[in-house]
Amino acid sequence: MADTEVLIIGGGIAGASTAWHLASLGRCVTLLERGDIASEASGVNAGGIGALGWGNVPDLQAYLTMGSLQLFRHLQLELGYDIEFRASGALQAIQTQEQYVYSRDQVLGLKSRGYTLELLTINEARGLEPELSPDLRGAVHFPLRAQADPVKSTQAFADAATQQGAQVLTGRNVTAITRQANGDYRVFCDGEVHETERLVLAAGAWCKPLGRMLGLDIPIVPVRGQMWASEPLPPRVFHSLSAAESPMHWAQSP
Ligand SMILES: Cc1cc2nc3c(=O)[nH]c(=O)nc-3n(C[C@H](O)[C@H](O)[C@H](O)COP(=O)(O)OP(=O)(O)OC[C@H]3O[C@@H](n4cnc5c(N)ncnc54)[C@H](O)[C@@H]3O)c2cc1C
Repeated sequence: MADTEVLIIGGGIAGASTAWHLASLGRCVTLLERGDIASEASGVNAGGIGALGWGNVPDLQAYLTMGSLQLFRHLQLELGYDIEFRASGALQAIQTQEQYVYSRDQVLGLKSRGYTLELLTINEARGLEPELSPDLRGAVHFPLRAQADPVKSTQAFADAATQQGAQVLTGRNVTAITRQANGDYRVFCDGEVHETERLVLAAGAWCKPLGRMLGLDIPIVPVRGQMWASEPLPPRVFHSLSAAESPMHWAQSP
């Protein structure tokens, strides 16, 4: 017989947030994480929260981004978790003429669909962020983008889930999953067996091997990202900063 209604594999931001939402809706939830909460991608990212506004015709992307902005604000301001949330806005640096043309076309296209962003000259950008190099070609300004500490945010979601009655278990490496005749799933990890009515795979880059345990081919391929974190600096950078190079490269990659 099932010992939980929903079992979530993975304690990154996706699993922790799912656990919180389902537990808040009164579901009996168990989360299994092989390491610690936020020990993989959710612990080593830039903490940028993307948002371009609702647009003229709100679509799924708008609900996901504007909705998560509201969630992070709610965690910090209403639930009282210190996740270092800040509605900072963001600037994307443009280094080359090719990036300028790409960024200009992107901005024009998105603005015509009612989204909130601007193409700035380098002097306009340096008015917002004085430390930017005068050698840049310009910058895209995303006034609605925000930032939060990724580890603290993921841990806050997991803690909020626990407050709502979810069981969050770390140090549990799932090694096998079988399906029972009644449709329940049996999940094996480190000598423990859990039986659940529903299963959520929130294992990020590791969804493919977990899918294989269920006979599923999940087309998720890990791609290595890079990030540099500095020592704490005096407050002289006010926005989240990124480069147009990355989105242009992603858009042009097959
Ligand atoms: C350098 C970098 C910068 C980024 N910057 C941003 C940014 O600014 N803004 C943004 O929104 N996104 C950013 N991202 C992307 C973001 O980090 C990921 O999209 C997000 O963290 C994915 O969360 P997740 O919960 O799906 O996966 P993860 O956080 O990877 O969580 C998956 C969890 O599943 C667990 N797991 C796997 N297999 C098993 C198993 N068999 N048993 C038990 N547990 C298992 C893992 O241990 C892991 O903790 C960045 C990513 C990188 C790498």
